[in-house]
Amino acid sequence: MPALPNTAAMTPEKITAGIFRPEILALSAYHVADARGLIKLDAMENPYDWPDTLINQWLVELRESQLNRYPDPQARELTATIRQVMHIPDSSGLLLGNGSDEIIQLLIMALTDNSVVLAPEPSFVMYAQISRCLGHRYQGMPLLAKDFALDMPALREAIDRHRPALIFLAYPNNPTGNLFDEQDMLEILRLAPGLVIIDEAYAPFTDASFMAKLPEFPNLLVMRTVSKMGLAGLRLGYIAGSRKIIEQLDKVRLPYNINTLSQISAEFALSHKALFDRQTGEIRRQRSWLNEQLHTLTGITVYPSEANFILFRCEENPAQSIFQGLKKQGILIRNLHPQDGLLQHCLRVTVGKPEENQTFIQALKNILPDG
Ligand code: PMP
Repeated sequence: MPALPNTAAMTPEKITAGIFRPEILALSAYHVADARGLIKLDAMENPYDWPDTLINQWLVELRESQLNRYPDPQARELTATIRQVMHIPDSSGLLLGNGSDEIIQLLIMALTDNSVVLAPEPSFVMYAQISRCLGHRYQGMPLLAKDFALDMPALREAIDRHRPALIFLAYPNNPTGNLFDEQDMLEILRLAPGLVIIDEAYAPFTDASFMAKLPEFPNLLVMRTVSKMGLAGLRLGYIAGSRKIIEQLDKVRLPYNINTLSQISAEFALSHKALFDRQTGEIRRQRSWLNEQLHTLTGITVYPSEANFILFRCEENPAQSIFQGLKKQGILIRNLHPQDGLLQHCLRVTVGKPEENQTFIQALKNILPDG
């Protein structure tokens, strides 16, 4: 009989080092700051809640939910509502995810071994994180330092050399807030040997979209989320594209990924979309106000945004000290300086309610040299 291993001599570190991929051991977990007691301007959430009458109607719907039963695995009613409300082309397939995070994971899980996933940098960190977790090669392509535009000569060369299976383009981009040039994106769609995922997480805050172009490009997928419009707690994202591609992705999806409460709540909320349109319209107006105010301050460079956040670079005080100074005054924003590269000295503020934005500007004035 073979000798049994001496489990007493094992440590969790030794066990994981022996069985987990080195890429995972080298990663850091996605960090979410503790916002308790602070004005929360760090996570691109919609700051508005619902009127009481709507909450009461929603609770009536929830009473009908049968938690002893599994959810509808295809979320048929919700899928039909999303198709209609979000103007998904009839010819396109549609798949729902537990947040668009999960859809990024599904896409990458479906790839052949050792594929290349390419995305501009800086962009949404999950493209790189999930690619590395699943053992693929991630190729980050620096944006142009001046205005965070796509570096087309470098991208043409990289597409030719790496033949990426997936290219992610966040439109508008997080954390920079800008829209990439449409002609550049169309060129990437024509050059790409694999799929191009246009991540429209911030669609509620811009008029630009590739959704209507889906029928033109077999390799185009458009991904969105309901998080930023005001339903981040539900965890619901969706991706539209060629039916044949969506069919394949659907095999990777876990059967009940959209839970019953999310299905009912999203269905209810999307049938009141006008409320969310008013809220996101107000956020767009507040973005203009915040942008104007930030431009009056010295010591920072402000970047244009088509999303519900604004990126700015600290020219004099270190970003870390401005971040901490705001926190001391009860405001949480996002410090991007630790991400390095083009984000050195950068902070990102989410657009909040008018009074939150005013408090933020005043707090920033208290810190900046000529405040
Ligand atoms: N894409 C982009 C560009 C994002 O910024 C985010 C979240 N910040 C997501 C996708 C993920 O959104 P969710 O998982 O909430 O749908």
